[in-house]
Amino acid sequence: MTGFQPSIIVHSGAGPIKDDSLPARLEGCKAAALAGWEILQDGGAVLDAVEAAVIVLEDNPLFNAGTGSTLNSLGRVEMDAAIMEGRTLRAGAVAAVSGIRNPIKLARRVLEDGRHVMLAGDGASLFARQVGFPECAPQSLIVDREQRRWDSKHGTVGCVAYDAHGMLAVGTSTGGIFNKLPGRVGDSPLIGCGTYADDYGAASCTGHGEAIIRLLLAKCAVDYLKNGSEAKIAAEIAVARLDDDRIVGNGGIILIDRCGKIGYARSTTHMPVCYITGAANVVLAS
Ligand code: ASP
Repeated sequence: MTGFQPSIIVHSGAGPIKDDSLPARLEGCKAAALAGWEILQDGGAVLDAVEAAVIVLEDNPLFNAGTGSTLNSLGRVEMDAAIMEGRTLRAGAVAAVSGIRNPIKLARRVLEDGRHVMLAGDGASLFARQVGFPECAPQSLIVDREQRRWDSKHGTVGCVAYDAHGMLAVGTSTGGIFNKLPGRVGDSPLIGCGTYADDYGAASCTGHGEAIIRLLLAKCAVDYLKNGSEAKIAAEIAVARLDDDRIVGNGGIILIDRCGKIGYARSTTHMPVCYITGAANVVLAS
C-alpha cells in the first residue's frame, strides 16, 4: 500500500559550534536527507532510506560517526550504531565496534539476521575488568576543561524517516564521546535510549549518552506521541527532561509521528538538522 506522504529528518549532533563549520555541517545534513528522500520518493522502503542517509553522514569526516569518529582514551575509534523499524519492531545495533567504515550497515545486517538485537566489540570485556574498583560520582570527575573539550567534539548523526507505505524507521550512528573508556557504550545503539521506533513514532537522540540512557529518552518521546502530543511538543518535552538535577547532560532529539509530522528540539546552542516534507520542501535549521 502506498499513498502516504513521505518525510525525513536528519541531525548531525547536538552541541556548540564554535568554529565556522556550521554551513558545511548543514550541507552535509542536506546531502544525507536528499539521499534518503530519493528512496522515499520512489516508494522505497523506509529502512533503506534511513540507512542511505546515515551512510552519507558517516562518510562525512566533519561528523563524529564512521569516518571522523572521535577517539577513546586509548586513542582508538570505537563506534556505536542502531537501526529500527517501527511497525515490525525489528532492530539491529552494534556497540564499541572498530575497523568498520559504516557501522549503520553492520547494524542493518544484525537486524536482517534477526537472531540478536545487539553485538558488542571486545571493549565490553575490557570495561568489565574495571568493575569492583572504588567508585565516585561521575560528575565529580568532570572538570571544565574536559567538559569544553567534549563540547567541541560532537557530531553524532541520526535519521528518522516515514515512507509512502506509512512505515517509520530510525537510525543513529556515533563515535561516542571524546576520551571515553574502551568499551563504553553510549545511548545511540541502545534501543529506547538513543534510538527507538514503534507504530506511534520514531526518534533519534544526540547529546550526553549517560544522561539519555538514564531517561530512556527516545522511547519517552515516542510515548509522548502515543499519548497525543504533537511532534514538535513531544520533542520539546522530551528534551526538557534532560534538565534534571539528578543527571548532568544536554542534547537534542529528532522525531516523526505516525502521520509523518516532524519534530525536533535541543537543549544545546546548536544541532544542525535538515528535513524534507511535502513537495520536496527542504528545510535547514541549527
Ligand atoms: N550521544 C552520543 C554518545 O553519548 C554522543 C553525541 O550525541 O554526540 O555516545
